[in-house]
Amino acid sequence: MDDFMHREDVERRVPQLAHYDALTSLPNRALFCESLRKIVRQAGMNHRIISVLVLNIDNFRDVNNTLGPTLGDELLRQLSVRLLECLRIRDMIARLGGDEFGCILVTPDGSADAGIVASKIREVLRQPFELQGHQMTVTASIGMSVYPTDSLDADTLIKNAASALNRSKGAGADMYRFFTAEMNATAIKKLDQENALREALDQNEFVLYYQPKMELIGGRITGVEALIRWNRPGHGLIPPLEFISVLEQTGLINRVGAWVIDSACKQITEWRHAGLGDISISVNVSGRQFSQRNLNRDVIRAIQDNDIDPELLEFELQTERALRENSIDFDLLELELTETSLMTHARRTIDTLKKLKALGIRISIDDFGTGYSSLAYLKRFPVDVLKIDRSFIMNVTTNPADAAITTAIIGMAHSLDVKVVAEGVETVEQFNFLRMRGCDEIQGYYIAQPLPAIEISKLLSSNKKLLNKVDPSVKTILSRV
Ligand code: C2E
Ligand code: MG
Ligand code: MG
Repeated sequence: MDDFMHREDVERRVPQLAHYDALTSLPNRALFCESLRKIVRQAGMNHRIISVLVLNIDNFRDVNNTLGPTLGDELLRQLSVRLLECLRIRDMIARLGGDEFGCILVTPDGSADAGIVASKIREVLRQPFELQGHQMTVTASIGMSVYPTDSLDADTLIKNAASALNRSKGAGADMYRFFTAEMNATAIKKLDQENALREALDQNEFVLYYQPKMELIGGRITGVEALIRWNRPGHGLIPPLEFISVLEQTGLINRVGAWVIDSACKQITEWRHAGLGDISISVNVSGRQFSQRNLNRDVIRAIQDNDIDPELLEFELQTERALRENSIDFDLLELELTETSLMTHARRTIDTLKKLKALGIRISIDDFGTGYSSLAYLKRFPVDVLKIDRSFIMNVTTNPADAAITTAIIGMAHSLDVKVVAEGVETVEQFNFLRMRGCDEIQGYYIAQPLPAIEISKLLSSNKKLLNKVDPSVKTILSRV
């Protein structure tokens, strides 16, 4: 009897041993290949795109020799945990052998998924590994192939990914490459931008421009909004919409976001020392920063380092972006996974906002009206300011629907004791419309374009003249700034 039980046990264990890697508990090469074959067979019917990633650690042999095999194994174990973090629940990762890992990503459209995962992997490896008191960083090289573009056959896909990996290695460490030339061209361009963005922070290539906000009654400048630009050598001044999404996809937004907050605080101090008084600055925060928990720490540190009254720093919660991020979660909600994640998100955001608000920081909702923004949000989030999106203001004097929406937003916000700022005001007609509807503040080319700090200083020192902005003739004053 005992004997029989034992045999059954062994029989149950054999497939386990044959399919999983003992060190990392990940599927092994055999299971990886078998799964890919199965997935490829189904993909044709479901019109799915499959991406195969193969990666290995750069100079692992040297690393292993230096660390010794025990720590080398520990590194591989920790690495496998981090790789898992980069994938979604339906993706697969396996240890193919040694320091080589493989991933299978299945998507309806394949849209740049493999590239995004490759970027994420490079980013998570940037954090040092803790190995018995030793800190160590490694980089990885990645090769990718895609079904059906590169091949319809599972084994060929793996071979192609491996040959892309070899080319990636040939190009240097910390790189990724696609098998197909065309995809590669796009990937290389993106990789170039990513690498350049990574260096941009160290090379001091980011700059903040500032755009003033003005009260409609009285014409006082109430503060400025900080808008980032990338002064990329050889490319000129690059607007945020061309690089913020790359920062978000790679997670670099957290470091750049912290830089923005810190620079804004420094600017407040500088203007104060220059005798311009206390100028409040609003900073754009991406949804991803909000969900990363370290925003709080960044803000508190920046405020303390610069000895600044927290009231001077105003966050513009990027509603649209946050919602876009949530709507990606919403897709997963169909699988009953993202609902939890969505709820956690919302709760965490509210928590973060409450903490920031308790510090005295004001919160505003940017681009209001464009996303799925609703009254419910205003009630749930501790919001001080609501910014009506430029798309409504653009036609506010010509399109009755936009006029009605704008009027309704102003009324609704005021009834909730929330201040309203209109974005993108360009004409005197828009200005007058908004003043008549009781809008609190405006921002837009009618007042001033986003300007470098030095130009803002000039503008603010002529603030008394600006008071006359209520009268359109002030435009001539501004054009001289
Ligand atoms: P936003 O926060 O809604 O900023 C307003 C955008 O409208 C700015 O574009 C500004 O230059 C532009 N604008 C202002 N007045 C007018 C006007 O009268 N007419 C027109 N046509 N445009 C006007 P910009 O600077 O290109 O920034 C675009 C977006 O990039 C921002 O939209 C914001 O979402 C994002 N962004 C900017 N800086 C940062 C940052 O430091 N962090 C993050 N996460 N996002 C940022
Ligand atoms: Mg903004
Ligand atoms: Mg906006």
